[in-house]
Amino acid sequence: MRGFGASKGFCYAKVLLFQEKEIAITGQVKTVAEEMKMFEEALRKVYSETVTLREKTAKEAGEEAAEILDAHCTILMDEGMINPIKEAVSGGMSAAKAVEQILTEYIRAFEAMEDEYLSLRALDIKDIKNRIIRKILHCESTDLSNLPEPTIIAGHDITPSATAGMDVGHVAGLLMEMGGNTSHTAILARTLEIPAIVGVRGLMDNIKTGDTIAFDGSTGEIFTDLTEGQMAYFKSRQQEERIRKERLEKLAKRESLTKDGQKINLYGNIGSTEDVTRIMEKGADGIGLFRSEFLYLGRKDLPSEKTQFLAYKKVLETMKDKTVIVRTLDIGGDKEVPALGMKKEENPFLGLRAIRLCKQEKNIFKMQIRALLKASVYGNLHIMFPMISSLEELRWAKGMINECRKELADEGIAVKEKIPVGIMVEVPSVAVLADLFAPECDFFSIGTNDLTQYTLAVDRGNETVASLYNHFHPAVLYLIKNTIEAAHRAGIPCGMCGEAAGNIRMIPILIGLAIDELSMTASAILEAKDLLRELTVDECRQLGAAVMCEKTAEQIEKLTKEFIEKRRKIC
Ligand code: PEP
Ligand code: MG
Repeated sequence: MRGFGASKGFCYAKVLLFQEKEIAITGQVKTVAEEMKMFEEALRKVYSETVTLREKTAKEAGEEAAEILDAHCTILMDEGMINPIKEAVSGGMSAAKAVEQILTEYIRAFEAMEDEYLSLRALDIKDIKNRIIRKILHCESTDLSNLPEPTIIAGHDITPSATAGMDVGHVAGLLMEMGGNTSHTAILARTLEIPAIVGVRGLMDNIKTGDTIAFDGSTGEIFTDLTEGQMAYFKSRQQEERIRKERLEKLAKRESLTKDGQKINLYGNIGSTEDVTRIMEKGADGIGLFRSEFLYLGRKDLPSEKTQFLAYKKVLETMKDKTVIVRTLDIGGDKEVPALGMKKEENPFLGLRAIRLCKQEKNIFKMQIRALLKASVYGNLHIMFPMISSLEELRWAKGMINECRKELADEGIAVKEKIPVGIMVEVPSVAVLADLFAPECDFFSIGTNDLTQYTLAVDRGNETVASLYNHFHPAVLYLIKNTIEAAHRAGIPCGMCGEAAGNIRMIPILIGLAIDELSMTASAILEAKDLLRELTVDECRQLGAAVMCEKTAEQIEKLTKEFIEKRRKIC
């Protein structure tokens, strides 16, 4: 089988299929006594699992996160809710149906409440309802939080929140039927340095739990029914990779300089506070993209201002005076927040996403801005808005910063006087009109993941069109060049934080186009640093000019590939 290599590395391990089974509730009744016993046992098990989960969460994510599970325990013991279920079972209803019926009534009642906090409790009851029913019907989802040995997780779709909840220490690799190379699960895999392949057609029909398979995350090839020879081959490749990694690790403490001594800032992209350690270990010069939405994902309610403040403060303090660019909430697209109760959209990537959603949910946006401003005194904070597509949006978002500044001043809370505010250039309208936006920003950061999908009209997560998704496309390069030049005309820096910034073949072109900073996942930093030492700015400038004369992505990629090979031979 074959898919799209999403995260490098060789992998040789046993498979665990990740499946979310459909629950089919029947009205069929065993005896009343048996149904009652099934309900009571399911309730007891769900309760004791919740207590264990609560302890684990408190240890890993803190007391505040664990409070959600306290609320679940309270609901599971609430007689006002349990007794009607028991009455329905006594009256002849099946246990699963009784839970479904009674708890759905509660869910509707909570959903209808005006108070936002109370209406959000409906999600907790929904979660509990599904867990009890799954227990009764012995139909549980695959548990990824506790893996006994290094395992390859394979699924049709492994959502970002399921990936985030995995026992990462034991995930040897990820395989997915869905998704393109820049889906958020692919990005997460790269961040965690877990080999991954996405967009594998027929994956779920061709492997099963317990199979031992191998795959190459660079080429996208998957090998099943391994022969002895193949096993030996993979073992030796794994060994080679280990040696290469050890050589690269030594570069972590070296400065990121080109062969002719030009400093190129290599920043890290982070998606959690834990990622800071990963990028620091690789010697990152700063944080070019802090995907703040991780604070909202995988939880039933919204993070409080305090939770957010503490997370930003922690990152800023760890990075000391180094640049930390925090991107405000980018929800929508393939990232959902249950607590927001977002409606399903036909085209979510073209829908209510990022700054558009924040404009609609102004209070949630303000809560984040307040938390950021409060944290600003602890380091070198930069604030960046995602998915800006018009000047009105940019001005509105900057207006919100001013409003929050005033509020905090009235409350006597200190905020840093100068906080650079910039935008992600990831919508073509902004890249085309970059000259209009640059004077109103302190910096630009090009988001090639979205800029490519929107410029080429290719869904970044759709495996059937993944071969059309290419940031070497001349149209994408044209927009990148236009953006960098507009930034420089206005006297502001222009970085890049999309996946292209960490692509070895793209880096010489970007230096040639005079990019100021490259921000990438931790796993790409050392290789980029290694490459820089083989390049001179002049040569890159020539390459930059040459690729702009080419007409196809294929020709451009070939040119830069040959350019790198030639440099490497000389070195
Ligand atoms: C981008 O679009 O390039 C980007 C960095 O943002 P995200 O991948 O989070 O959408
Ligand atoms: Mg984006």
